[in-house]
Amino acid sequence: MKTVVLKFGGTSVGSIDRIKKVCKIIAAYKKKKNRVLVISSAMSGVTNELVKKSKQISNNFSRSEYDALVSTGEQVSCALIAGRLTHDGFKSRSWVSWQLPIITDGPYSGARINKIVTKELNNYVKQGGIPIVTGFQGINNENRITTIGRSGSDATAIMLAKFIKADECIIYTDVDGVYTTDPRQHKKAKKIKKIFYDEMLEMASLGSKVMQPTSVQDAKLNNIDIKVKSSFANKPGTLITGSKKAFSDQIITGISSTKNDAKITIVGVKDRPGVAASVFRPLSRNLINVDMVVQNISQNGKDTDLTFTIKSDDLKKTEKLIKQNKSISYKKLSFDKNLSKVSIIGVGMITTPGITYRMFQALASKKINILVISTSEIKISVLVSSKNVKKAIAALHKEFKLD
Ligand code: ADP
Ligand code: ASP
Ligand code: MG
Repeated sequence: MKTVVLKFGGTSVGSIDRIKKVCKIIAAYKKKKNRVLVISSAMSGVTNELVKKSKQISNNFSRSEYDALVSTGEQVSCALIAGRLTHDGFKSRSWVSWQLPIITDGPYSGARINKIVTKELNNYVKQGGIPIVTGFQGINNENRITTIGRSGSDATAIMLAKFIKADECIIYTDVDGVYTTDPRQHKKAKKIKKIFYDEMLEMASLGSKVMQPTSVQDAKLNNIDIKVKSSFANKPGTLITGSKKAFSDQIITGISSTKNDAKITIVGVKDRPGVAASVFRPLSRNLINVDMVVQNISQNGKDTDLTFTIKSDDLKKTEKLIKQNKSISYKKLSFDKNLSKVSIIGVGMITTPGITYRMFQALASKKINILVISTSEIKISVLVSSKNVKKAIAALHKEFKLD
């Protein structure tokens, strides 16, 4: 008898009809004598609606109430799933995270799951029941509801698989696996059979929405294999795993892209120790995420230019914080919006020379201007104008033989 954790994303439970369909998937696992536990997201669009409502109430909505509010979508979808399974003759009930509880620490909207108390779940499963648990949320040490970041139900599923000691964790979504690039953006995208945690982690962090980055990190830390499958069609999916054996001779495994990046250049800041820290201190305190950072070599040994990227939504706040910052002096501030980061990812690049050149050449041949570059052992990212993203992905997909 296997213990399986099944997670269903927003689109998979996006309508009454969809909920009836996922109940058929759940039933099929149960009929094969598995112990089955389910994590569900809110029905698609529901969390966004709740976020919108909080903004209509206040542009400075209480952070703890925000989490109490946006976590409610999952209670609805879980109760509907449990209700349908009961209708179909199965023993099933829903759990909201605080009822178990799922214990988190860290800030509201960005908490991390520390522990899931599985006693009630284990008892229920032993009695043949199918527990349906809310994804995306938990409680903190003040007994208040927390959420773990958008798309966080993926991470709830991985952590439940860890604490319940599951044999399998399957992420059911609206595509039938992880592709070389977003199949909705590029028609020639190919399904990947197996991918390393590290590659998936880079792809997820660099914009491939199919898996939430924290969940991949949690899976890697706890050595939990993840299967990504479609809840719409019964097809083989993708295995995300940590095996060290090379899967193929592919150099690049995937291409990711982001939306809504912005670039800021502070022209003529002093070139001395502590300046970069002074620039970024207030941004960090205001939870503004700085991504790519480049500092020019100073020509005169005194002044330099500092360029960095943030999300466009944070641009106004960042501008204000820099202008208010008394601990730095500079000549000029310049801003650039509507930018995107396009990244190629693959463990194969560690041992293959010439990848950077091939990437830049492929982009140059399509006359795509590169604004900022950043690299790590297994990825190269370039910042480009958002209008060039599709073209860039197509060129790189072809260059690295992913078509
Ligand atoms: P869910 O609601 O099930 O959590 P998401 O919307 O979070 O689903 O993730 C699935 C979406 O991720 C797909 O519809 C697809 O457009 C997008 N996506 C982005 N990059 C990739 C990729 N490399 N492979 C597959 N899907 C991707
Ligand atoms: N419902 C939450 C969101 O939309 C969590 C999730 O879907 O995983 O972000
Ligand atoms: Mg998701």
